Amino acid sequence: SVVTRFAPSPTGFLHIGGARTALFSYLYAKGHGGKFLLRIEDTDRERSTQEAVDAIFEGMAWLGLNGDNAQPIYQTQRFDRYRQVIQQMLAAGTAYYCYCSKEELDALRAEQMANKQKPRYDGRWRPEAGKTLPTPPADVQPVVRFRSPLDGQVVLQDLIKGEIVFDNAELDDLIIARGDGTPTYNFCVVVDDMDMGITHVIRGDDHVNNTPRQINILKALGATPPAYAHVSMILGADGAKLSKRHGALGVMEYRAMGFMPEAMLNYLVRLGWSHGDQELFTREEMCAKFNFDHVSASPARFDMEKAYWVNHQYLKSADPALVATEFDWHLRRIGVDPAQGPDLPAVIVQQRERCRTLVEMAEKSKFFFAELDGYNEKDAAKHLNAESAALLAELASALEALPQWSAEALHLAVNGFAEGRGLGLGKVAQPIRVACCGMAVSPPIDQTLYLLGRERTLARLKAAVS
Ligand code: GLU
Repeated sequence: SVVTRFAPSPTGFLHIGGARTALFSYLYAKGHGGKFLLRIEDTDRERSTQEAVDAIFEGMAWLGLNGDNAQPIYQTQRFDRYRQVIQQMLAAGTAYYCYCSKEELDALRAEQMANKQKPRYDGRWRPEAGKTLPTPPADVQPVVRFRSPLDGQVVLQDLIKGEIVFDNAELDDLIIARGDGTPTYNFCVVVDDMDMGITHVIRGDDHVNNTPRQINILKALGATPPAYAHVSMILGADGAKLSKRHGALGVMEYRAMGFMPEAMLNYLVRLGWSHGDQELFTREEMCAKFNFDHVSASPARFDMEKAYWVNHQYLKSADPALVATEFDWHLRRIGVDPAQGPDLPAVIVQQRERCRTLVEMAEKSKFFFAELDGYNEKDAAKHLNAESAALLAELASALEALPQWSAEALHLAVNGFAEGRGLGLGKVAQPIRVACCGMAVSPPIDQTLYLLGRERTLARLKAAVS
């Protein structure tokens, strides 16, 4: 059965590109009843940090892309295993010690460059039948090199890019362990993919050129290479490689911008994958429908407007109880205590038509939970004056007399009040909004006052006319 993995190097937060790669791996596994595993590639100790590991987990957890391994695999905890495989390969003759010093390799490189040749290791320590190897120098800690096939080809049937052929003659004998015994990157990936039983390697296409080396090592170990799917990169709307200046790149920055995790997944899945002209997918639909037949081999373009659109569609149609968790986080973030007001799902239902993000929704809903910190100046200048003050004072008395504080009762009362004075509803509703919400925009007035509650409504109406 299918086993995929996401194998980030913890050198920074979880960015959009990584999240999309993780999503594709997750979906492919889930859609095939398989497993999605998480592995932290932290062998580069100088660039890897615990903060980055935490940030990646935080992003993955927010997106709900949880690995099926209870504990993620850390490469730094597997050094014994890597050493063991290196010993096996040395014993089997598929790897060998190379005692070249740095100076020697530099000289070789310089010579090759001078002759306009591609710099590559010349195999001077590679054992061959009938060849006499140099005497190992006493003062050099040897590296271990993989004995790479000299001829033939690696034919990769990439699930996204199609067939890619590599000539083995182009690949030199890769170092798999350094002089100090630490294993190198490509070797760790190979051992892990083998030990974890990975059937499908889904990763960024910046790794395409590692693939023939990895396949050759897997074959030397007697393992069946997995299938590979190399995902194209994401470009900015301007066609340049996605970078900081295109806006937020970290997944958690999108949280801060007011995106729902499910909307983010929906947006990300469409970066490179399509299913007819369908734009909106639930997580279940994504799992069921995702496959590599419709993943584009060319780079996708990030389009912020579309991301907002997807988020808005999601806010409008999602179960408000699910949105509430995220909304709660946004309210607290702007210093609002969500417990000091109406139930969040009820507010969400009223606000979501006009809010593309939860940041907007939180800003526009603050007044339900916290006292007003003044009125919007323009709105107050326009709607609060002597004339409207008289109306608001009368209205306050009318509402105070209501036997029941329901949206229906409020609807009848406010409409009746306007009609009774021969006024359009706006003439009454706008001053109420400024008085009660601090601004002239809010959900329908009956719903607004109902959710705001009797006490706050009356107090604010009175405050506006005093
Ligand atoms: N650690 C690599 C990266 O973060 C991914 C390697 C892989 O998926 O094979 O780019």
